Amino acid sequence: MKLLDGREVAAFHRSRIERRIAELQKGHIQPKLVIFLVGGDKPSAMYAASMQKTARSVGLQADVYQYEAAVQEAELIARIEQCNADSSVFGILLMMPLPPHLDAQSVVNAIRPDKDADGLTDCNVARLFTGRPAFVPCTPQAVMAILDYYGVELAGKEVVVIGRSAVVGKPLAQLCLARNATVTQCHTGTADLKAVTRRGDVVIAAVGKAGLVTADMIKPGAVVIDVGINRVDGKTVGDVAFDEVAGVAGAVTPVPGGVGAVTTMMVLANVIGGTTHSM
Ligand code: NAD
Repeated sequence: MKLLDGREVAAFHRSRIERRIAELQKGHIQPKLVIFLVGGDKPSAMYAASMQKTARSVGLQADVYQYEAAVQEAELIARIEQCNADSSVFGILLMMPLPPHLDAQSVVNAIRPDKDADGLTDCNVARLFTGRPAFVPCTPQAVMAILDYYGVELAGKEVVVIGRSAVVGKPLAQLCLARNATVTQCHTGTADLKAVTRRGDVVIAAVGKAGLVTADMIKPGAVVIDVGINRVDGKTVGDVAFDEVAGVAGAVTPVPGGVGAVTTMMVLANVIGGTTHSM
């Protein structure tokens, strides 16, 4: 069984991003990422701080614009529009969730599509689903980066995606379709999950249920990508029962150190505009 090491993939993309930023700096361009953080959600604040640190470590300028939870939509949108018009701002990230009085998608849609570092605007979603080049959410992009790095060919293969969320499962299925895979999307309404996953040459689990994917659900030699992040007894684990699946699969991503290790780099790649996906 081959271990698909997300940290190695992240390191590869980090150096590519650093080289691109150095080139821009040589031309006296200092690209900037702006992160909007609204209210006191702790995980969002932690994610914003970690994103800022990683962005700075590759040479990006990264600013966090912090707002009280009571901020009005018009104020946020006005600031986003300033960033849209500022040529030094290459990417804009909006930490989710937003407080309930705000219409999150209206605020997201204020971001200019070519600065939409998380690929969440309706425009980028539509572009992805209609087969045009698009900025894509970072987690599905991280999955593709791992498959590409390890040379996993998708054309003509059976790919099973478990999960159908708007930010992970659905865009992932589109990206695999664009590579000419035959894609089956499973979800809570799937009658016989095992019967479907056993057909998969590639099985991608994006559910959020520890141990959901067991060895008997995997075709021998299949590639298994574990997107899930779950806390069990103080430890972080994925959706895949790693030890038993490793005995059957041809290749597996670990958790931690798999998909999660690559996602931040994909946001930064979007910021410098290097990874719009052509369908
Ligand atoms: P979500 O809760 O929005 O969606 C989960 C999906 O799983 C749903 O579409 C649901 O239909 C499906 N599902 C639930 N139970 C199922 C079952 N028993 N059988 C088949 N399908 C089932 O979650 P999400 O935002 O898509 O995230 C999925 C997982 O990926 C979570 O564990 C999340 O923490 C993780 N995640 C990881 C990263 C990363 O960087 N590695 C990023 C985002 C999300």
